[in-house]
Amino acid sequence: MTAAHYINGHWQHGEGVDCITVYDPALGQPFAELIAASPAQVDQAVAAARSALPAWRNVSAQQRAAYLRGFAEHIDQRREALIALQMQNNGKPHHEAVVDIDDAVATFNYYAGLAEQLTARQGREVPLSAPGFTAHTRLDPVGVVGLIVPWNFPLVTSAWKLAPALAAGCTVVLKPSEITPLIEQTYGQIADALGLPAGVLNIVGGKAETGAALSNHPGIDKLSFTGSNAVGSQVMRSAATFCRPVTLELGGKSAILVFDDCDLDQAVEWIVAGICWNAGQMCSATSRLLVQDSIADALLLRLKSAFETLRVGNPLTAEVDMGPLTSQAQWSKVNDYFAIARAENLQCMAGGEVVRDPGWFVTPTLYADVPLTSRLWGEEIFGPLLCTHRFSSEDDAVALANDSRFGLVATVISADLVRAERIANTLDVGHVWINSAQAVFVETSWGGTKGSGIGRELGPWGLAAYQSVKHVTRCLG
Ligand code: NAD
Repeated sequence: MTAAHYINGHWQHGEGVDCITVYDPALGQPFAELIAASPAQVDQAVAAARSALPAWRNVSAQQRAAYLRGFAEHIDQRREALIALQMQNNGKPHHEAVVDIDDAVATFNYYAGLAEQLTARQGREVPLSAPGFTAHTRLDPVGVVGLIVPWNFPLVTSAWKLAPALAAGCTVVLKPSEITPLIEQTYGQIADALGLPAGVLNIVGGKAETGAALSNHPGIDKLSFTGSNAVGSQVMRSAATFCRPVTLELGGKSAILVFDDCDLDQAVEWIVAGICWNAGQMCSATSRLLVQDSIADALLLRLKSAFETLRVGNPLTAEVDMGPLTSQAQWSKVNDYFAIARAENLQCMAGGEVVRDPGWFVTPTLYADVPLTSRLWGEEIFGPLLCTHRFSSEDDAVALANDSRFGLVATVISADLVRAERIANTLDVGHVWINSAQAVFVETSWGGTKGSGIGRELGPWGLAAYQSVKHVTRCLG
């Protein structure tokens, strides 16, 4: 058993009730075990973050930026080990694991850059309409923040929270997912290597009990949560108890709209990437394909062939396009949806099966002409299952895309860029991609409307989420 929890600058063994087994999903075999942090250890982590706050918020933004650049450099130096761990624990193909490392490095460097500009923004004079007063702005850190993350992009999701929180001058208690609890330990190791002051970053691993101990803790000033809607609403309830702010990045059931003027081969590439990257375990998966009538038959046939030729397998032993699902629970959930699809008599053009050979694999799956009443059309599945539906007009397509309780992202594929922009303006989501798939940049925002969450990460909005605006107004008289 490893000392898995990083509290006040020290590594501790867990004292919680849960034993966490870490699996290689391609083999369905365990390769590590750890004991979860107890609620008392969560207390210690929050207390450490509280004690570290006064000094950390007064460290110059330039120095905080230097630490963030240090995180970026160390992630880069540990690249090979992190790629291997993500392949082994998440089942990510090599090329996808590489993208995650690059994203985390870019995130720390980006927020280092924003921290460097903070000094200039502090104390900025506010022009007033009335004479006799001056006022200036301060951007204070929110305080001690609790960060709770899921398993599908562990390194990246944690970087999206950790980097802006540290840049803003917050101190942090991070709770990784029990499915992938080893990856974020790297952030603790890097904190050690950089000499980050004790208590600025604390990491407590565990299951729901540990997460609930953190989200219900009175010593937290803000919570930022990424995960399911069911847990997100519990986290929001606990935030309501203390009347404190919360950022929620939740689920999605996003649409990809394909118009008849597109290049069909290129469209197939983007559609496949939008549903099969990370084996479809993406909040932003474009899992509802809306295709214009006149090209529907041709596009579906090409998609069937593309799905059937994807190389699915163990990323550690073969070059693959798609690995296994990351956990047995997720594999069972997808299997349940295959059964629902059969019960609903959906027309399956490709896939539709789980493969236990020996790990948690499923086949990329294509359902044609799915009725809008189908559970598969409405519910987030988190696997490589694409549901399709035809439309005849642009208005039709937009109405179908917006007809969802989620509003995370959408993709529009059309050669007519004026039309694509017009549609982007009417889609009720947080991010629209035109003629691309899942292109995420640290400079643009991340987050959704409706059931997809509250608030935005990345870009300057990601930093603002950890800042508290203060004005100092002075009478000149
Ligand atoms: P989950 O909600 O089950 O778990 C997320 C985290 O919350 C884990 O660390 C878990 O241990 C913790 N947790 C569980 N119960 C808790 C409780 N009662 N109180 C506090 N914390 C608790 O989600 P998951 O299965 O890990 O991730 C999949 C979900 O995450 C999907 O719905 C997906 O759409 C969503 N997601 C959203 C985004 C986004 O940016 N919008 C990104 C990735 C994943």
